[in-house]
Amino acid sequence: MDRLIRKNILTVTPYIAGKPIEETKRQLGLQEVIKLASNENPLGPSPKAVQAIKKVLSEINRYPDSQGFYLKRKLAMVLNLEPANLVLGNGSDELIDVIIKTFVEEDENIVTSDITFLEYEIIAGVNGRRIIKVPLRYFKYDLESIKKKIDKKTKLVFIANPNNPTGTYVTKQEVEDFMSGLPDNVLLVMDEAYDTFIDVDDFPNSLRYVKDKNIIVLKTFSKAYGLAGLRIGYAVTRPELVSYMERVRQPFNTNLLAQAAAIAALDDKKFLRKTKKTILEGKSYLYDSLKKLGIAYVPSVSNFILIDVGKDCMGVFKEMLNYGVIVRDMKQYGLKNFIRVTIGTEKENEKFIRVLKKAL
Ligand code: PMP
Repeated sequence: MDRLIRKNILTVTPYIAGKPIEETKRQLGLQEVIKLASNENPLGPSPKAVQAIKKVLSEINRYPDSQGFYLKRKLAMVLNLEPANLVLGNGSDELIDVIIKTFVEEDENIVTSDITFLEYEIIAGVNGRRIIKVPLRYFKYDLESIKKKIDKKTKLVFIANPNNPTGTYVTKQEVEDFMSGLPDNVLLVMDEAYDTFIDVDDFPNSLRYVKDKNIIVLKTFSKAYGLAGLRIGYAVTRPELVSYMERVRQPFNTNLLAQAAAIAALDDKKFLRKTKKTILEGKSYLYDSLKKLGIAYVPSVSNFILIDVGKDCMGVFKEMLNYGVIVRDMKQYGLKNFIRVTIGTEKENEKFIRVLKKAL
């Protein structure tokens, strides 16, 4: 077998996704299961997006617009940029792959943090590219140490801001210090999947740097807009870089329903407001409850919280599953005593706390 498989694929660790609700019901014979494991929107999809999908359902015999003309036009308007600044992707996951394939030569490397979004390492591995992981500092990206790790062969730096799974962020000042004096051969990827949930003033507006820095900003419709199941995200960068990424992506990577839904979701201000309110209120409830129980957590600017359960996370994960609550164990990240919980609706958060108490 080994002779059939490319060498670097042999050593790739597969991505472990959050356990699906249906699978859990089936396997454990449960009627009611809540999933707080994949940082999805607990309110469902944007209602405007659902309406838009219904309208175009009868057109799915046609290929989608490979250029995503209307979605790019809408995004350009909302972001105050040009359509030429945008690359659409089958989720931002796909764009990570497109970026590595477009820019990183065989002998070049990628620098990021350890305990960050696992797809950077997995996709680098699939593409046979070397990744250098720099330890977090107090659960936060350590940009100073990352800068020190950059060498002549470094092509990309991935920064998840806010970081998943820690929920921490790097500030505008830290990002600007990091970018100053960065060698020309280095491209910075700011992955901002969770930017909508930010409630701090010193978070960087990375789109401002697109014009004159080597930077690609990644965004997604999977989180705040509630469209994770449709798979749609986008990259923002200089038009010259866009044109090369366009050569690499599949022509029909974003589907017809996803494009229509994303356009409508961008107009759904009411849904976004409600989502943000739900997350912020849920976060404050969870913080209070965890404090009362004497359970340590990492303060988060995102829609999930990293929690120190003080014992083997696999046991806690399994026990919670038996009570119908799916969280994410952090074993794969090397955080053996931690779980990550996505902030849910009020009812879901209450159930989470009840079940966590039992499981501990
Ligand atoms: N970046 C980060 C930091 C994430 O946590 C995720 C989702 N887990 C993604 C990117 C990918 O999101 P999607 O592919 O759904 O757009």
